[in-house]
Amino acid sequence: MNKTSFYEVKQIFSWLYGIKDPQNVFCYLAVGSEKALLFDTVYGIGSLPFAIKEVTDKPVCVVLGHGHLDHANGAYQFEEAWLHEADFDLCRLHTSEEYRLMSLKQLKESNIALPGGFNKEEYVKAGTGNLKKLDHGKIFDLGGLHIEIIDMGGHTAGSIGILAREHNVLLTSDSATPQVWMFKIESLSVKEYIAMLERVIQLDFDVFITGHTDEIMPKSDFQKYINAARHLSVEKSVPFKYHPELKGLLYREDGVEIVFSEAKL
Ligand SMILES: [Zn+2]
Repeated sequence: MNKTSFYEVKQIFSWLYGIKDPQNVFCYLAVGSEKALLFDTVYGIGSLPFAIKEVTDKPVCVVLGHGHLDHANGAYQFEEAWLHEADFDLCRLHTSEEYRLMSLKQLKESNIALPGGFNKEEYVKAGTGNLKKLDHGKIFDLGGLHIEIIDMGGHTAGSIGILAREHNVLLTSDSATPQVWMFKIESLSVKEYIAMLERVIQLDFDVFITGHTDEIMPKSDFQKYINAARHLSVEKSVPFKYHPELKGLLYREDGVEIVFSEAKL
């Protein structure tokens, strides 16, 4: 494991830190008076426990926002990680040797150096780590800070958000983001995505933070996501360049991008 600053750690609020993976994905550390909670684990190429030690020595529980490789692949570095069961199979695929080798290839192509002491064999064979079944509505009491698990299925069936109840802050991983991918095989329908957003916007939060930028977004942006999802159509979209085999279509409205496919309408 690396003992260098592979990750960039930044304080966002007095109780919340962002940990940035060099491949532009973020995980977040919420710190209460007794415990801390790590939300997502990025690609897990560098040591997350080492990065966390910069912030706190408190015991850490790990919650995964969904099962994709850029959020779940560091889970093996911890004793256990909570994930909604609907993403277990997806997580097994995304933490497989094939996917982990893909992540390393991507890192190399981006000219990002591996962290010092990186053990390729250990990383490639690490698997999912020790997954625990996470239920919607579960509350993690970190001491003066309560983190509630919110059902945000859409991007994947098992996608969740976490709501910091004392602070009215929602963290969404990839489930509601400036560019949401709804065209993957594991994505639910656009209809289900809209219903999810309409349910979640009713919750008590003032701002939200997503998985690929640490920008603090106002709740009003959440309404933009709903509007864009309601208005999208094949005619108003352009072909999406990644994963052409899935025939993704990109719809843009008011600074929001949704990638969907005809199969998800
Ligand atoms: Zn994802």
